Amino acid sequence: MGQKADFAAERLRMVERLVASRYIQDPRVRDAFLAVPREAFVRPEDADAAYEDVPLPIGRGQTISAPSMIAIMLEEARLAPGDRVLEIGTGSGYHASLVARLVGPQNVVSIERIPRLAEWARSNLARAGLSGVTVVVGDGSLGYPERSPYDCVMVTAGAPEIPDPWRLQLSPRGRIVAPIGPRSGQVLIVATRKADGSLDVREGTPCAFVPLIGARAWSA
Ligand code: SAM
Repeated sequence: MGQKADFAAERLRMVERLVASRYIQDPRVRDAFLAVPREAFVRPEDADAAYEDVPLPIGRGQTISAPSMIAIMLEEARLAPGDRVLEIGTGSGYHASLVARLVGPQNVVSIERIPRLAEWARSNLARAGLSGVTVVVGDGSLGYPERSPYDCVMVTAGAPEIPDPWRLQLSPRGRIVAPIGPRSGQVLIVATRKADGSLDVREGTPCAFVPLIGARAWSA
């Protein structure tokens, strides 16, 4: 069996495990995981570990999140085709590619503060056939007003609190899915914008993300 076939079999086994443990419940989320080659979003030396349920280093002290954590976030986000999504913390581009499978690549903008990672993510996304995703370099703690409003803001780095720009850039009934709390460990929150513009915040799974570094987040 060639390496490509090995990866496809490993991907299927990973998805089966995520379904069995109920991290994945929505068939559309399952199909997205089945469609995206995670090996294309890790460093070549980590390809053998691409389908283990662990975060992996991607350089510059950053990580690609564990698949189960990404599954939890995608289930919480309840994305529908056509939803406009801002992802904050592009990293490898893997999470953005799953979101792109769910809403359409042209509806996804992802922002990354480290230019080298943004460049790498763009090439990973292109190799996965998802070059329609827009990757920009900037400080996502300020959101990305240029493409707002968003139906969902998904954050893959830990913030001390929800910065106001994220709320202001949501569409009516838009949602924020983000790890919020101390640098050492956060809680995944799902915040839905209410008719009066304020947020209805629900706390979910405890988690541990690398810090969101920016003007409205942690200092470097
Ligand atoms: N979603 C990524 C993936 O699928 O590979 C993993 C993201 S990694 C856990 C967190 C990322 O957030 C890092 O690449 C980091 O450089 C980025 N980051 C941290 N602070 C940021 C900020 N203010 N704006 C944009 N990106 C930021």
